Amino acid sequence: MAGEKTAIIIGAGIGGITTSIYLAREGYKVTVYERNASPGGRCGQIIREGHRFDLGATIYLMPMVYKKAFESLNITPEKAFKTAPLPTLYKIHFDDGKEIAFTANKADLKKQLELIEKGSFKQSEKLIEKGYRLFQLAVDHLLGKNFYHLFQFATPKNALLLIKLKTYLRHTTYVRRFFKDPHLRKAFTFQNIYVGQNPYQAPALFSMLPAAELTEGSSFPLGGMYSITSKLVAIAQESGVNFVYNEPAVKILTENNKAIGVVLPNGSTVRAKVIVANADLPYVYRELLPDKNRSAKINKLKYSCSAIVLHWGLSKTYPQLSHHSVFLSKSYEENLKMIFKHHSLSADPSFYVHAPVRSDLSAAPDGQDSISIIIPAGHFVDNDKQDWNTLKNEARAAVIERLKKQGLTDIEEHIKFEICYLPQTWKNLLNLTRGATFGSLGHNIFQMGYFRPHNRHKKYRNLYFTGGSTHPGNGIPLVLLSAKLTSERIIKEQKQ
Ligand SMILES: Cc1cc2nc3c(=O)[nH]c(=O)nc-3n(C[C@H](O)[C@H](O)[C@H](O)COP(=O)(O)OP(=O)(O)OC[C@H]3O[C@@H](n4cnc5c(N)ncnc54)[C@H](O)[C@@H]3O)c2cc1C
Repeated sequence: MAGEKTAIIIGAGIGGITTSIYLAREGYKVTVYERNASPGGRCGQIIREGHRFDLGATIYLMPMVYKKAFESLNITPEKAFKTAPLPTLYKIHFDDGKEIAFTANKADLKKQLELIEKGSFKQSEKLIEKGYRLFQLAVDHLLGKNFYHLFQFATPKNALLLIKLKTYLRHTTYVRRFFKDPHLRKAFTFQNIYVGQNPYQAPALFSMLPAAELTEGSSFPLGGMYSITSKLVAIAQESGVNFVYNEPAVKILTENNKAIGVVLPNGSTVRAKVIVANADLPYVYRELLPDKNRSAKINKLKYSCSAIVLHWGLSKTYPQLSHHSVFLSKSYEENLKMIFKHHSLSADPSFYVHAPVRSDLSAAPDGQDSISIIIPAGHFVDNDKQDWNTLKNEARAAVIERLKKQGLTDIEEHIKFEICYLPQTWKNLLNLTRGATFGSLGHNIFQMGYFRPHNRHKKYRNLYFTGGSTHPGNGIPLVLLSAKLTSERIIKEQKQ
């Protein structure tokens, strides 16, 4: 036991599973403790009455990041996953009936954009090209590397990098330079919501999101996003990782400057040389560790927004919906203010619909549909007095009205069942602080790079973090990078 390389991972989200593979392949004996009955966390799945839903993540963003991450695990994505191409990335529906089908097919995109604003296609090409350069720069120099100490981050070169990455400029201000038309301005900025941000406040760096989509295109893994989770679990198990489900860590045991083990609900202790927390980082500091000062500081940081999610099993299929559809509210800006300033939700929200049966018939029984509606909403706050059920009911009514306008006139009659997630549900199910689904920590520039809570504890130098709330950030591609960076750090630092 003395010289044995052992690791405990708390949480079987994408971050925890992926880290377990890197460590097992490095000779660690790894055990993953997961509080729920199945793996995946926010990339989990729900199956009911033959309907299959991805629990959270639905969009296969940044395929090149996946490819590189998988290759570093000796996985060839084309062999590991069967995917269906998505010629239309998603359709954006505006309240006045206008639509744009985002596609990597230039001729098709040109036709649509030029109808909205003359000359806008050329402008979009410039915006996409610049945005993709920002994306590559960010992955190479900010998101894809470890910062071990401040002096490695706070260099003149990096100061210049932050300027080049347009971190000083708001995203919407930047995009206004390219388009006059409000539809186009919204279509090229709403993607900030993917990382729980308000496009009116987020830095222009995030123009990399639509740019990456429109440059790299997208596909959908057959079997749903959960097939990524199940493949990674299978590879981890082949590498010798042991998964223990329904077994939450209730405390991380520390001794002097070390984390020595984890306490389980029955009071027993399991010990290891290295502990990796994949559970939400602010929750780990608050609930599992003794040092309350650091936790109080993390509590004051900015958190991403949350989401109300409705999964509907439908007794009929609706061809009016694309695989991914975005419905932007008439009161778009007001809706964002309600989410990010008032941590609430307006009665006429913007929302997104995932309808995977269009690319994968196995997601529902024959002739039926499985759709998930994601309504970005405020995260809850301490002593929240808001009635989230009432907010949900209002939003649900607005969603149904909007879908009826889209031609899904009888949709209400065909909802066989509904599974609903409110901000509080995310906290109860996954321990996500404030139910902030797209982090939980937000991604303003003061919470990125070296400024984001680090992937190793300052005092307990064998306690590491992986996942959405540590470096580099949230979203499956970044969480895959997080697992790689954390594992590299463990391997480098724990050699002796
Ligand atoms: C509604 C929604 C939509 C999204 N859409 C997209 C998308 O389209 N594309 C995309 O790339 N990303 C998307 N995301 C984000 C993506 O799902 C997450 O970034 C990613 O799955 C986070 O992985 P993780 O490993 O950091 O954390 P998690 O998935 O949160 O995993 C952490 C795990 O730790 C477990 N845990 C917590 N506490 C304990 C404990 N005490 N003991 C043991 N286990 C514990 C949890 O149960 C969980 O399984 C979305 C998320 C949501 C919620």
